[in-house]
Amino acid sequence: MEKVILVLNAGSSSLKFSVFELPASAEMRPLAIGQVEGLGTAPRFKAKDGEGNTIVERRWTTAEVAGPAQALQEIIALLRSHLEGRVLVGVGHRVVHGGPDYSEPLRIDAAALEKLDALVPLAPLHQPHNLAAIRAVQQARPEMPQVACFDTAFHRTQESIADLYGLPYEYYERGIRRYGFHGLSYEYIAATLPSVAPEIADGRVVVAHLGSGASMCAIHDGRSVGSSMGFTALDGLMMGTRPGNMDPGIVLYLLQQEGLSAKQIEDLLYKRSGLLGLSGIGNDMRVLLASEAPRARLAIELFVYRISRELGALAAVLGGLDALVFTAGIGENSARIRQLVCEKARWLGIELDAAANDQGGPRISRPESRTSAWVVPTNEELMIARHTRQLLSL
Ligand code: AMP
Repeated sequence: MEKVILVLNAGSSSLKFSVFELPASAEMRPLAIGQVEGLGTAPRFKAKDGEGNTIVERRWTTAEVAGPAQALQEIIALLRSHLEGRVLVGVGHRVVHGGPDYSEPLRIDAAALEKLDALVPLAPLHQPHNLAAIRAVQQARPEMPQVACFDTAFHRTQESIADLYGLPYEYYERGIRRYGFHGLSYEYIAATLPSVAPEIADGRVVVAHLGSGASMCAIHDGRSVGSSMGFTALDGLMMGTRPGNMDPGIVLYLLQQEGLSAKQIEDLLYKRSGLLGLSGIGNDMRVLLASEAPRARLAIELFVYRISRELGALAAVLGGLDALVFTAGIGENSARIRQLVCEKARWLGIELDAAANDQGGPRISRPESRTSAWVVPTNEELMIARHTRQLLSL
């Protein structure tokens, strides 16, 4: 009977999933992909098959589907009916935090789960949801092997100087370090470069993961040496609803002078800032690019400015730059943003090929460009499926 792997990515109000088949020799292919969204408010379920045809679309009340456990039941029921004749042999999870120690994916058992629970304070907004999905699988299918794949793991190759803050050393020992995130995306890109762009695969590369969350990673010879994100996923670039790098004194000011509570500041920094907060219109880059509103322009200008600043910083970490790679929703789809970033990066030797950029790459710099530029689509789900397959020897 044909085997399949389920990949789960649990957020605060959604449970995203992909199902991969395991052919003996070829690369794994998705058989189904979808999500339960609106958990806690208006739960709805959408899934497509590998060809993009809708296989389920439905809505529930919160009484019918209250949380991730029921959402998972619905996903398993769909698998049973849609993937008839195939057997589920493992589940891989995106887990945001692996702390200072986990540089590899981890097979879940009781001891591992306890260690991941201890990391909840480092990522209180994400880690509990990731672990709830693991527990929901344990409840539904106690015998099912499960693997946790960490967004921080790829960055653990960085030298200790790169994850140190200038705080008293005891805080570093208590876990206040730069961890970096989007690691599964960067790992996928690093693994893909040898086939897509072999001439840069062992060089000095900055990857710009520009999605609704956005960060950049300096990669040398396929290993992470620096990242724009730090202790939390708030640092670095300006994002859809997060401000990115800012003076920590602003937080003190908001607390002490403006009288905001910690909860209000959390809400401001995670949900009301970035492209949304500046433009006053929204966090969808497509909408902002189509808008004539001055503050939409301003938001785009700052988005690009911060990318170019971070690019300079990461080029310094690498001691030079051989290539810039764009990925994720904005990086893969917006020729305009890539053009604006590349124009600001001319000083680093990037000469954009406008026609190649409009066509979406993969190479978008001119042949004579000293530093090359690329578009490489990311695939975090496939990275998780690969790890799960390898760790479980499937
Ligand atoms: P992700 O988080 O990687 O799924 O990326 C989501 C972001 O990609 C959203 O902010 C979208 O606005 C953006 N996006 C998707 N397609 C385009 C496009 N054609 N042009 C600009 N932004 C896009």
